[in-house]
Amino acid sequence: MNDAKNVTGSCLCGVVKFNVKKFTRPVTACHCQQCRKISGNFVAATRSKNTELEMISDETLSWYRSSEEAERGFFRVCGGNLFWREIGSDATSIMAGPLDGPTGLVTSAHIYDEDAGDYYELNDDFPRFLQGD
Ligand SMILES: [Zn+2]
Repeated sequence: MNDAKNVTGSCLCGVVKFNVKKFTRPVTACHCQQCRKISGNFVAATRSKNTELEMISDETLSWYRSSEEAERGFFRVCGGNLFWREIGSDATSIMAGPLDGPTGLVTSAHIYDEDAGDYYELNDDFPRFLQGD
């Protein structure tokens, strides 16, 4: 994986802004039902330690507790889907779409592929896992 440094990102309207100092893994595509419903299709997300994720402007960032274990960060005005994290975790999954390129990242795996919609096909050779981090 390219060890990208200082990649910025934002929500659609640009009010929530952040900077990722270091990614801990490549992009994985999550096809679980929650990711499908919140993103409109499937989620493509990378990850970083919380200490490497610097919020430049987050007063308007909202967190939605989407399950017992996790919450999702978004901006309630433009609807930008930005983050996912386990409660109490020291790391955050970061949606790849809101990142300002070039990111140096690659997609490397699918998770929850059995929950994928029936209107698209996964016709690549990336590994498939039941769940990821
Ligand atoms: Zn998911």
